[in-house]
Amino acid sequence: MDRGRSRTSTIRNAQQERPGRPPVRLRYLLLLLISVGLFYATRPPDEPPGIQGSSQSSTVIQPGLQTVVPKPVVSDPVVSEFRIKRGDTFYGILKDLGVDDDSIMALASKRLDGVSLSRLVAGKTYRVISRNDEAVEYQYEPDETRIIRVTFDEDYPAVSIEAIPYTTKLVTISGTIEDSLFRAVSDIGEEPMLAMDLSEVFAWQIDFFRDLRKGDSFRVLVEKIYRDGEFVRYGRILSTQFINSGNRYMAFLFQPKNGRSDFFDEEGGSLRKQFLKTPLKFRRISSGFSRRRRHPVTGKVVPHMGVDYVAPIGTPIRAIGDGKIVMKKKDSVNGRIIKIRHNSTYSSAYAHMNSFASGMANGVRVKQGQIIGYLGRSGRVTGPHLHFTMYRNNRYVDPRAVNVPRASSVPKGDMEAYLKLIDDRMAVLANGELEAGLRTKD
Ligand SMILES: [Zn+2]
Repeated sequence: MDRGRSRTSTIRNAQQERPGRPPVRLRYLLLLLISVGLFYATRPPDEPPGIQGSSQSSTVIQPGLQTVVPKPVVSDPVVSEFRIKRGDTFYGILKDLGVDDDSIMALASKRLDGVSLSRLVAGKTYRVISRNDEAVEYQYEPDETRIIRVTFDEDYPAVSIEAIPYTTKLVTISGTIEDSLFRAVSDIGEEPMLAMDLSEVFAWQIDFFRDLRKGDSFRVLVEKIYRDGEFVRYGRILSTQFINSGNRYMAFLFQPKNGRSDFFDEEGGSLRKQFLKTPLKFRRISSGFSRRRRHPVTGKVVPHMGVDYVAPIGTPIRAIGDGKIVMKKKDSVNGRIIKIRHNSTYSSAYAHMNSFASGMANGVRVKQGQIIGYLGRSGRVTGPHLHFTMYRNNRYVDPRAVNVPRASSVPKGDMEAYLKLIDDRMAVLANGELEAGLRTKD
């Protein structure tokens, strides 16, 4: 899933805050069937000798004996899911399940595949499978890829870690815009995350909040990832086309031999424009991006959601990319601040300025590198610096993490392979149908 971009965004987070993944009922139905099946298969011969009744018939009357053998009590496994709260411990949980201290201690010290069994993350869930009111299994998923199982049906608990089996299907999805990309995506039964992914691919080409027209359309070849038949999330977008006001934009995911995977257009050009690395010539960074920092003035531990560049008063500050000024004001905290919206994904803000450059006003378009103001010490500061902030989908991001160096276009040596790849993908997109056997694996 590493597409070289962080996966933070308001909408995504909303998505993630829904219960982890689609309902797990189906999974447990399967598990239940398997467990019951196994139970029958491995049931010890505990019937009184002489009674060879089939396990199907629950009551067997032996001729002559007139004994009624009670039906074996096999209650269905019950799966209970719990959210791990702050303060919960592996010891406490297993103790509650009736596991003895020695066993718990032995388990707690175990590391499987680099994962310590006793390490629990608050907010995640664990599951207990019980039968006849007795816990038979504890399950915990330390990450999205693995599941830990501790089973209690033997004399001592057995533990294993397994890969969560996901399957990846490659599908072509197409839709037409009525009013928004989100609605178009939900109208065809897909999740909002797909709209998010699409809008990020074309963040530099299309402003998805302002430029969309009724009748715009898209097609996307994307991986859909399933667990036990239920959709979990989207994987990579392999190629996509977006028609906006009659202009066709295309993107193909491609990994050059010596580079990282990225999106390129039909000619092999990069879809991403790069921001300036920094908005000014600075002497030093006095404070980096941090979610926990002691504020130099107030002394409180507060997040520092930007980068502080120290430079002399009057140093020119430049827009890191083309965009539109969406805020220009002066307040007691930020001092003189300008915020620029670069596209539907990214914005940047520049605070504590000494003065604004002439012509700066709300709604004004600026070019990359254009001087928007001069460094100062306005607002709540200890000394002259620029507090520089970047937003991705309206959430703070570390500016230095946004500017990942990337190839500007497909390298010459990879061009032949790239053109071949886009021929294939164009054909798939055009047909909307997948050739048999065209599948990806994860
Ligand atoms: Zn700052």
